[in-house]
Amino acid sequence: MKTTGPWTRAAAAAGLLKNGEARPSVFAQMSARALAHGALNLGQGFPDDPPPTAVAEAAIEAIRQGHNQYPPGIGEAGLREAVAEHQSRWYGLRWDPADEVLVTTGATEALAATILALVEPGDEVITLEPFYDQYAAIIALAGGVHRTVPVTSRSDSDAGDLVLEVSTDALRGAFSERTRLVLVNTPHNPTGMMLPPEALQAIVDEAVRHDALIATDEVYEHLTFGDVHQPIAALPGAQDRTVSISSAGKTFSVTGWKIGWITARAELITAITGVKQWLTYSSGAPFQPAVAVGLGKPPSVFQDLAADLRERRDLLTDGLREIGFRVSVPAAGYFTVADAGPLGEPDADALAERLPTEAGVVAIPLSAFYRDGDAGEASAYLRMAFCKSRATIEQALEQLDAWAAPRR
Ligand code: PMP
Ligand code: GLN
Repeated sequence: MKTTGPWTRAAAAAGLLKNGEARPSVFAQMSARALAHGALNLGQGFPDDPPPTAVAEAAIEAIRQGHNQYPPGIGEAGLREAVAEHQSRWYGLRWDPADEVLVTTGATEALAATILALVEPGDEVITLEPFYDQYAAIIALAGGVHRTVPVTSRSDSDAGDLVLEVSTDALRGAFSERTRLVLVNTPHNPTGMMLPPEALQAIVDEAVRHDALIATDEVYEHLTFGDVHQPIAALPGAQDRTVSISSAGKTFSVTGWKIGWITARAELITAITGVKQWLTYSSGAPFQPAVAVGLGKPPSVFQDLAADLRERRDLLTDGLREIGFRVSVPAAGYFTVADAGPLGEPDADALAERLPTEAGVVAIPLSAFYRDGDAGEASAYLRMAFCKSRATIEQALEQLDAWAAPRR
């Protein structure tokens, strides 16, 4: 019986197909390893924190009130209004909640439906590299051609920290007449980098010049530690051709709720709904009104969540630097990138295999976010999550310190 098919392309594109067999995603593999070895999980990006009480209570209340059947395919009216309100309040973007907002099963479904709806076989899709693994898989499912723009690294001249950045010229150079879509992830997973305004404007200018669409993945929009997030859709010339994607998972520490949303012009929403309705139709009935409650909270609630996370970023990056890693201090998100090269570990793939047993800590090799697992200059880099409790981070640092002692 033949069991290969489009899924095989997806697995191969995400680097998960070895000798005809597909492995689960790197996040699933690493979380399983953490459980198997009783290791601390700085791998998969999910927080230890509970959601804000008002958001959790709203979900419980929604179940009690009977929000338990299929919500409308495009999402509960209250959540669509809250998304439109939030975009207006934070970014000055005006969307009509009736036909310019679509609620999805997490950003994951939003990304899949957007790419499957808009990319024809042979169309080029541009992303940064490293990239969130799902991008390569869905581009391959659609039969698209994945082009990437490298994130490069250098040492900061003061502290010797790792600095990750993208050349605006390289971004411009990736566009061609075959470009259908540029998928921009800022703040960026795995690096925590925020693309600077000139890079964002260059993307818009090139998209206009080549009549390409823009999709954005903004799931870390509120987890910023200095600069505020700049949505591409708010730049001149961008709103009509941009599909903006976000989700509640990271902002409200509810990654298991899987409530995401898209804002875009009505004709794009119609196109994307044309795929989304055959994937899940709709989901998360009691969670939708709860996320609406969260989105309506005043800015201080979002800022407090980010400030708390920033402290844990500092705890992890300061600790890793002391241990002997070269670390990046990310501007946003859940993750830091740590270079194990200075500890005599040039191969992060091999190191990530050994760390759970040698140090009792799970981390993700950055190669998981590159095509063919080829991380090039980043081959000694690990991604480590700081969205965990202080106790977990402190314990992980203690164990890594003991592990590193003979290597210093
Ligand atoms: N995009 C990025 C960059 C992510 O890190 C994640 C993981 N949360 C997702 C999309 C998926 O988001 P969701 O959990 O809302 O499906
Ligand atoms: N976004 C999470 C991460 O990057 C993982 C999500 C998943 O496991 N699919 O770690």
